[in-house]
Amino acid sequence: MQIPGTLAIKLAKAAETAVKKGHPWVFEQSIEKGPADAQPPGSLCVLFGQRSNKPFAFGLWDPAEVVRIKIIDRSRGLNFNEEFLSAQLEKAFILRKPLLERVTGYRAVHGENDGFPGIVLDVYDKTGVFKIYSEIWTPYLGILLPLISKIFHLDRLVFRRSRKLMDNRQIPYREGEVIGKALLDEKVQFEEYGVSFLANPVSGHKTGFFLDQRPNRYWVQQHARNKVVLDVFSYVGGFGIHALKGGAASLTSLDISAQAMEVARENILLNNLDSEKWNPIVGDAFTEMSRLIQEKSTFDVVILDPPSFAKQASEVPAALRQYERLAQMGAALTAKNGYLILSSCSSRISMEEFKKAHRKAFGGIEKWQIVKEVYHDVDHPVTFPEAQYLKTVIYRKRRE
Ligand code: SAH
Repeated sequence: MQIPGTLAIKLAKAAETAVKKGHPWVFEQSIEKGPADAQPPGSLCVLFGQRSNKPFAFGLWDPAEVVRIKIIDRSRGLNFNEEFLSAQLEKAFILRKPLLERVTGYRAVHGENDGFPGIVLDVYDKTGVFKIYSEIWTPYLGILLPLISKIFHLDRLVFRRSRKLMDNRQIPYREGEVIGKALLDEKVQFEEYGVSFLANPVSGHKTGFFLDQRPNRYWVQQHARNKVVLDVFSYVGGFGIHALKGGAASLTSLDISAQAMEVARENILLNNLDSEKWNPIVGDAFTEMSRLIQEKSTFDVVILDPPSFAKQASEVPAALRQYERLAQMGAALTAKNGYLILSSCSSRISMEEFKKAHRKAFGGIEKWQIVKEVYHDVDHPVTFPEAQYLKTVIYRKRRE
């Protein structure tokens, strides 16, 4: 394996301690001793202890980002070669194995949390979607991609780039390029607890599907019998299709994207579900929910899974107000004894803050019982605080 360079690094004390404790990022201002001039992306950084003067961790050099070094290993000595990468991927595969009996769509590599900072790999049956967020991996793609195909038993990889890397000339694969067996259809099919879904790995959001909500979708399937269900921010039908599979009496799906709603329709047909029970609404969630409230509609199961409202720290207060408003509307639409499922995918908002917004929205918690709090499934491991993005609370409205 060709490594573009090896760099000896020392960090400021606090950063050294953080890395030793498991944090995977080194910001540029934490580097006390490092290279004097520009270095190619993906150079291997050997981090030496301030006191011991011995290596304690290894990382890859990222000249394009403030997180200048991304840690890939914490040990005294690393052979950074094909065997190492292969072993890391095997580890990731073994962690996911328990899921694979009833699921063929899963996150196979979850960035830093699996030792591959700047890489996400989602698998849809025999198709892997490799999404690259950092150029540190550019020198190693030739080794990494075939290893991934072998270890995760794939026929092909779809190569996707993050927005920042769209125009990067060093990366040898195009956005959406298929590596391996050709894709006969842009959409690929995969299974999730008895439900089939279509995902579009070439041009869909992120890698084509939101795999992270799987456990909550399954919960809905198991609790939907004869229920009237409202799925807001429904994308390609995820939660609602599980509800119909579980015997829901009816399903209302609401999303702003007409295109996503069309795929939802295909997904309903794909599962031979009764489309007579389905009421799709294309529109803004806030507007349409207000209308449903005015019409005095209620539902036995209400799901609210909005996009991230707080992409930056400065957006947190406004995001909390939006979560509160959504919870308020969701509460008004939940029938007595019904379930209200509230999710946030903003890593900057903690579970405590999220629940506080709900308490405000509900005007107290007396009427609401927390059935379950859900974090990440095994295919989205969390090894540092910033990676804890998804949080869901399942409430039940008490009978008065
Ligand atoms: N629950 C889905 C994933 C939701 S992703 C699943 O399990 O697969 C967030 C969705 O919110 C996207 O489909 C996006 O189109 C939709 N969206 C974003 N802003 C919206 C708005 N203002 N009103 C309604 N839908 C919106």
